[in-house]
Amino acid sequence: MSDAYDLVVIGGGPAGYVAAIRAAQLGMKTAVVEGRGALGGTCLNVGCIPSKAMLQSSHHYEMADKEFAHHGIDVSGLKVNLKTMLARKDKVVEGLTGGIEMLMKKNKVDYIKGWGKIDAVGKVSVKPLEGKAKAQVLNTANILIATGSEVTPLPGVTIDEKQIVSSTGALALPKVPKTMAVIGAGVIGLELGSVWRRLGSEVTVVEFLDVALPGMDGEVSKHAQRILSKQGLTFKMKTKVTGAKAGKDGVTLTMEPREGGKAETLKVDVVLVAIGRRPFTEGLGLKEAGVEVGERGFIPVDADYQTNVEGIYAIGDVIGGAMLAHKAEDEGVVCAEIMAGQTGHIDYGAIPGIVYTHPEIAAVGKTEEQLKDAGIAYNKGKFPFTANSRARCNDDTDGFVKILADATTDKVLGCHIIGPQAGDLIQEVVNVMEFEGSAEDIARICHGHPGLPESVKEAALGVAGRAIHI
Ligand code: FAD
Ligand code: NAD
Repeated sequence: MSDAYDLVVIGGGPAGYVAAIRAAQLGMKTAVVEGRGALGGTCLNVGCIPSKAMLQSSHHYEMADKEFAHHGIDVSGLKVNLKTMLARKDKVVEGLTGGIEMLMKKNKVDYIKGWGKIDAVGKVSVKPLEGKAKAQVLNTANILIATGSEVTPLPGVTIDEKQIVSSTGALALPKVPKTMAVIGAGVIGLELGSVWRRLGSEVTVVEFLDVALPGMDGEVSKHAQRILSKQGLTFKMKTKVTGAKAGKDGVTLTMEPREGGKAETLKVDVVLVAIGRRPFTEGLGLKEAGVEVGERGFIPVDADYQTNVEGIYAIGDVIGGAMLAHKAEDEGVVCAEIMAGQTGHIDYGAIPGIVYTHPEIAAVGKTEEQLKDAGIAYNKGKFPFTANSRARCNDDTDGFVKILADATTDKVLGCHIIGPQAGDLIQEVVNVMEFEGSAEDIARICHGHPGLPESVKEAALGVAGRAIHI
């Protein structure tokens, strides 16, 4: 293909495919180049979607095993059919990635399969996935780098995706391991650690820091660790992993206390490495194209998402910030609009973050620690789910909603929720924050009864010390 494009997007993940659709909507002749053989990126293929599918299936199993009897539902002969569970997960993934391909067709975006390389400004070559065919060269006015991220490796712990796995291998284990060690008590560690614990593994989470989910509001992360421990996850905090050796009868993990001291070993069937993700730019030709690479490999961009080279833009995980699919998608829309001569912006202070454990954990805006560090005076309203009638009906009362508002203006500065459907509940507060609303605004809005969102309203009332139901 030698036609000139207005835009060639490299990477078909949430950042890239969304940017391509928006660019096409705005009349740009657009192509998206993707090397993994399917659209949707990390998120749809090996991230958000398969992990949530497995979280849902394993949650159903845990409910049937531990909760149904309490509701007067007796179950006998309960067992996990992992093959069916994994096949369902794969079907969800295939359905959604296939759907993105349809969206490309609908929007007349050319989907080009292969690995893209920037040859020069305005030139991208694509190495086909199979065969020895010559690379295809695409001429384009603009190039958008949306190549995402990959797992951060841990020295001494070699991932083989069988016994020592990244999240990708952990989403496709052929049998439930008897024992599992998870390195990193972050989002992936807690979500996938929960999946395998629910399905029967004895899971030990090894974390370098003294808190799980670092960066989250301290009160929430402490509460989360307490609940997840009660559910059966074992946490080994302030511990440094020094190596892992895979053998016929399992993996031997060596570790030592962070502050120094006696080394110890842990023998497990499977080790999951989940210590963060790093930008993926291998083979992209950045150096040759003169594109600057910044701290830890992230690509620096200006307010218009343009790199230091005119006509080359970058968005999504590869530019850093919150490594989240919805942040990547929003950057896709805004970047395409800017390329088309429009203006757009993202409020990075109001991007929700959700951990899909049970209960869910959700956050937006500032934590109490951040407000204290910045010397900002705030009022706090906190409401426990034990006092919410719907949570009581559902027998799902662990956790609370916490709203933080400016002490002078009452403007909502942050919200932190641990509890049932926290990921859905947080959206109300995100919307209010986008409109620069106050806690009083939330408190004055009518909320349906009996509903979990009433907890958000009560927390907002609590900011002014006038919650009704506590
Ligand atoms: P990616 O999704 O990584 O897409 C980049 C694409 O570019 C890839 O498909 C890659 O193959 C392709 N590519 C790279 N280089 C080239 C090249 N040279 N040529 C052609 N193609 C190339 N986020 C959430 O918001 N919610 C969640 O619940 C969630 N769960 C997650 C669970 C797991 C296990 C993981 C690993 C991540 C999860 N994330 C979640 C994070 C989310 O997946 C990422 O933030 C998101 O995918 C980033 O989108 P992106 O388009 O920037 O990059
Ligand atoms: P993370 O940054 O969430 O957590 C990594 C954890 O590993 C941290 O607690 C860190 O202190 C710890 N750690 C780092 N080095 C260590 C070491 N050597 N030994 C022990 N512990 C160590 O990273 P992740 O869980 O790998 O997730 C990667 C990214 O994917 C995140 O940025 C997240 O935003 C995204 N993600 C999002 C979701 C979601 O939105 N629900 C789900 C999964 C992943």
